[in-house]
Parts: sequence; structure tokens; C-alpha cells
Amino acid sequence: MHVVVIGAGIGGLTAAADLARQGVRVSVLERAATPGGKMRHVQAGGAAIDGGPTVFTMRWIFAQLFADAGRRLEDALVLHQADILARHAWREGGRLDLFADVERSAEAIGDFAGARDAQGFRDFAARSADIFRTLQHSFIAAQRPSPLDLVRRVGRLDALWRTAPWATMWQALGQHFQDPRLRQLFGRYATYCGCSPFLAPATLMLVAHVEQDGVWLVEGGMHRVAQAVRELAESQGATFRFNAEVREILVQGGRAAGVRLADGETLAADAVVFNGDVAALGQGLLGGSARRAARDTPRAARSLSAVTWCMHAVTRGFPLTHHNVFFAEDYAAEFQAIFRERRITAAPTVYICAQERGQAEVTPGTPERLLLLVNAPADGDLGDLSADAMDQLQHRTLALLRRCGLEIEAAPAQTTATTPAGFHGLFPGTGGALYGRASHGATGTFARPGAISRLPGLFLAGGSVHPGPGVPMAAMSGRLAAARVMAEAPLSRG
Ligand SMILES: Cc1cc2nc3c(=O)[nH]c(=O)nc-3n(C[C@H](O)[C@H](O)[C@H](O)COP(=O)(O)OP(=O)(O)OC[C@H]3O[C@@H](n4cnc5c(N)ncnc54)[C@H](O)[C@@H]3O)c2cc1C
Repeated sequence: MHVVVIGAGIGGLTAAADLARQGVRVSVLERAATPGGKMRHVQAGGAAIDGGPTVFTMRWIFAQLFADAGRRLEDALVLHQADILARHAWREGGRLDLFADVERSAEAIGDFAGARDAQGFRDFAARSADIFRTLQHSFIAAQRPSPLDLVRRVGRLDALWRTAPWATMWQALGQHFQDPRLRQLFGRYATYCGCSPFLAPATLMLVAHVEQDGVWLVEGGMHRVAQAVRELAESQGATFRFNAEVREILVQGGRAAGVRLADGETLAADAVVFNGDVAALGQGLLGGSARRAARDTPRAARSLSAVTWCMHAVTRGFPLTHHNVFFAEDYAAEFQAIFRERRITAAPTVYICAQERGQAEVTPGTPERLLLLVNAPADGDLGDLSADAMDQLQHRTLALLRRCGLEIEAAPAQTTATTPAGFHGLFPGTGGALYGRASHGATGTFARPGAISRLPGLFLAGGSVHPGPGVPMAAMSGRLAAARVMAEAPLSRG
């Protein structure tokens, strides 16, 4: 059997590794020059900077992937568990670290906001762990369920009830925290799935548990994760072609039967796995015959995009750790601006990954590798931000950081920015949405397709597919797609 995997994002890579391990001939076709998709290196001032995901969690998914191939994750990647999960700062004052240890975080929260919120955090940590346990096997590691399937799989209505899909995350956080800054801090976890905490279901509080369960720093950076899974897939026999864009999924007898590349070359296949955003299929970007395989994502349902700056720059004044968040005063206004008014708010929340920190000493006065990120609406298909607008945004962002005490010397030659239009160019069909469809409302998450598309022989993997976005979830989706291909293998061979 021959399977073509379109895209070497993490979902395509795990699908390739699993299929090749089971004796399938696998060809991975990737339009970019390197594997990883969003997990890419960006060059800035002569340094290679992780320009995509930076928070590595759910290590067990990768440990399992390697173990199933008879390998050890620790032989492929050097991972260090972060002691500080993230450092948070507010412009109007206050700084708070969250730690790998719940009790240490509770004490820090007690000092920051008082005993009542410290207890609120302990309850919140237990609740998010409970939600995670309920959904880990019934939802995250399972083929996409319907709401009814989920009820059957969980089996206990009380446990499912406690996942609270009918409440928004923001409402649920109000039950745990009195200090608005804490509500904001934990509400930010919704953005890990590209959502607004004001629209996402309380269920997404499980992301807090995922972090609490372990944030890992990857020696060599996040891009190493993609390389390691590529090497795993190759060791099992998968082959890779880069700078190879698929323009069309070929259909024969009502089944996906191969692909046509941009240069006209065709490859026959018994099955095809698509790792791009499913919206691209619905828009007909993979040809008219594959259009019916998945629905386009309406603009209003798109997840967050971002403006990012990769910098090789000197910092001063603020003791950066690996992950840092500088919060806007008015969180509601920030998400109202993005999702309703389709603009970046004047004073956005800024995330900074200081990539050496936590792994190596940064000599004061020498440049370090930074990723700065602000959330943005996914309208990159409507046009780009002008150079003027980008200059102003960068100026405003750096001024806001200065108010928290952080000075960054950002020389233009050492800075590479990516806008929603830039992300749209890299990830076709998305408008720059980085996490597929936003899981807003009680049933939003069920709107994502599962591994089986509407076109027989075409399977789906990646962040726009069940179980959702983020490196580990997309990795899981690739494994689920591979399992579906194998389950249908006798069919595809006719
Ligand atoms: C700035 C940023 C920060 C993030 N932060 C985090 C984080 O901290 N932690 C976390 O877990 N997640 C984070 N994410 C999300 C995470 O990166 C993604 O959910 C995940 O990497 C998506 O993987 P994927 O399998 O969907 O593939 P993608 O990364 O989307 O890659 C898809 C690949 O398919 C290729 N492709 C598409 N169409 C074609 C075609 N026609 N022919 C050939 N190739 C094609 C593309 O070139 C691409 O390489 C972040 C993302 C971004 C952009």
C-alpha cells in the first residue's frame, strides 16, 4: 500500500511515522523547505529562532509514539522540565510566577492576591485535572466522538457535567478567583486553542492542567521536535520531499487516488493524508474533486492569528524567564477588538519566549533569541498590515513592555516580523488562523472534522482536526489518522 501525506507539520509527521512502522510505503510531500510547519525556524540577525510553538507539553504523547516504534523519546530529544511555567506581569503593577509544583504556585498566589485566591487556585487545579482525566481517553486520544458518543464513552454523566461546556471559561474562572488579574492569567489558556476566554467553554480549563502536568524545554529548540519525528518516520522507511507543493488531490471512482504537484508530476496512492488546514480543502485549493472532503471555515469561526516578531536583541530591566506574559489592562476589550471589530487592540497582551532562558546563561548586554507575539484577527486573506501599521504596532508593543520595566533594543536588521497575511501565505486557506476553527460555545469543538473526510480514501490530520490544535494534539490527530488508514486498508486495496 502507498500513502501520500500532504504536509510535514507535526500531524503529518506522526501519521507518516505510524504508517511506515506498520509496513506502509509512505511519501511525505511538503511545500516548505523544512519539516515542522508552524514549528519553524525563523532567521533574524543571523540567529535561528523558534517562530511558532514554544510551550511543549503532553510529553507522554511523544513518548508513546517513539515507544510504539521500539525507540526512546529521550534518545531523540533532550528535554528539561521547566521549574517556572511562566512569569506574568501587569502594566498597572504586579508580577507572578506559576511553578511546576501546585503548592508552590498556591503560595505565590497567596502572596500576590491573598489566601482566598490561593485556595481558589487549589480548587481550580483540582477541577482542571478532573476535566482532563474525564476527556483524556474519551476525547483527546480517541477518534472524534459525536456529543452522544462522548456521553457513552465517559459513561458517567456527573463527570461529563463537571466539564462544564455550557459555561464560558471566563464565567467559570469567576468562581475561583476574586483578583481580576488571576482570572485574566488563567483565561489566557483559551488562546492556546486560538479562542477567546469570553467565548470558549469552561472545558478548556483543562489546558491549565496540561501545563501543570509539565512544561518541557527542548534542547536545540522546538524545531528539534519536528526533526526528531521526521527522523523517526525515515527510520521506519518513510520518504520526504520538500519544496513539493500539492495542487490537486486526484479522485478516481469516488476515492482519493493520488496527487498532482505544482510542477505537474502525479503520484498514485491508495490513500492520502492531508495535513494542511481543512479550510483549504473546502475552498477548492486542492482541486474541485476534493472540495467536498471538508467544509471551509467561515471567517467568524476562525481561531486567532498573531503578529510575531523574532528578534536577536539585547534586553534590560526585567528578569525574563523562558515564558513571559505582559498583560493588557482590559482583557475583554482585547478579545472584543479581535473577534468582533476584527482589529488588534491599542494595548495588546504580549507573550515573550526568551529562548535561551532556563537552559543557558544570558550574558548581560549580549543579544538573545526572542519571540514576541500579540494576538490578531485571522483576516490575512483580506490584505496585509501596512509597513506603517506594523511600525506603529511594534512601537506601541515595545512601549507597553517598557511600562513593565522591560527594555528591548530591537534593531530592524535583527527583527523578522510575521503578520496574519504572512501566516496565510505559509498555511493556505487559513486567513492566518493558527489553530483551525475556534472552539467557541458548547459544541464548537464538535464542528472540527475527525480523521475521516467526506471523500473516501482521504484522511485528515493536524491542528484544524479533532482533537484540536497545539503540538501534542496535532501529533495525536496524525496518529488517529494513521489508525483510520490502517483500519480501512483492505478497502483501499480494493
Ligand atoms: C506563533 C505560534 C505559536 C504557537 N504556540 C504554541 C505553543 O506554544 N504550544 C503548542 O502546543 N502549540 C502552539 N502553536 C500551535 C501549533 O504550532 C500547531 O497547532 C501545530 O504545530 C499544527 O500542526 P499541524 O499538524 O496542524 O501542521 P502545520 O504546522 O499547520 O503544518 C502543515 C504543513 O502542511 C504543509 N502544506 C499545506 N498545504 C500543502 C500542500 N498543498 N502541499 C504540500 N504541503 C502543504 C504546510 O506547508 C505545513 O508545513 C503555535 C502556533 C503558532 C503559529
